[in-house]
Amino acid sequence: MDQYRVFGNPIKQSRSPIIHQSFAQQTQQQLNYQSVYVALELFEQTIITFMHSGAKGANITAPFKEQAMALCDKLTERAQLAGAVNTLTFTGGKIFGDNTDGEGLVQDLLNHKILLKNSRILLLGAGGAAKGVILPLLAQGPQKIVIANRTVSKAEELIKKFNNNKLTATGFDALGAEKFDLIINATSASLTGKIPPLSKELIANTDCYDMVYGKELSPFLAWAKANGASNVIDGLGMLVEQAAESFRTWRNVSPETASVLNRLRKED
Ligand code: NDP
Repeated sequence: MDQYRVFGNPIKQSRSPIIHQSFAQQTQQQLNYQSVYVALELFEQTIITFMHSGAKGANITAPFKEQAMALCDKLTERAQLAGAVNTLTFTGGKIFGDNTDGEGLVQDLLNHKILLKNSRILLLGAGGAAKGVILPLLAQGPQKIVIANRTVSKAEELIKKFNNNKLTATGFDALGAEKFDLIINATSASLTGKIPPLSKELIANTDCYDMVYGKELSPFLAWAKANGASNVIDGLGMLVEQAAESFRTWRNVSPETASVLNRLRKED
């Protein structure tokens, strides 16, 4: 059977095995997908050993996405610009790296009927997740994307890489009263119960997305809902859609995602 894994540290929380096994069942693909905990210093040798065992591919999650990029013989443009890789494909002893996170986000937004063309987007954060979504978001033809980060210099560095006049960088305090159609929280603030310091005026009648997901609304989404956001959407759909994009890359077949997302929501 074709072998796939997701490698991370920690990894217990990963829902990727359930998602990929559901895709495989649904599309009648013979494959085995499991999660593997990797000690921080053993990442590279773990991947190489796995590849040499005849495996077909792997997903990479935190904190190894940058290290995975360095292992690749060839990268997609979106992985190169993201500076991080979440999908490896092994072919003829070579490693091909891709980043499907951004496509996953865009697909989930489109599933929610969020209009991206000509929209004004505020992207919060300038870490790995934010980097990965910029190119796929730009491909949807937004009017502009403002990237706000706690450490402003990181947002400024980030937009230099893209060299696109639709992108601007700022700090949270400089956002003022500018109006946005969509706010995407790509910070990890929700993981520690925090909310990026935004004014309430930014939120009213705006679609709000948090890449973080869980049983309850994240602190950011709960706050956005209480302050009149038109839609609040968590990142579970992004997780399923990025997996679908990896699955397509590996198996050349498109899985159906809505039923898998429903199943995960029920298990929450
Ligand atoms: P990084 O560690 O690379 O970046 C973290 C970002 O969050 C930085 O921009 C950092 O700002 C900012 N930040 C952290 N704490 C705060 C705070 N209290 N207030 C304001 N800003 C803060 O993480 P990633 O980019 O890899 O991941 C970000 C989030 O996205 C994670 O929660 C992750 O779980 C989620 N994610 C979800 C996916 C999905 O499929 N749903 C896929 C990938 C990621 P600064 O630069 O100033 O430190």
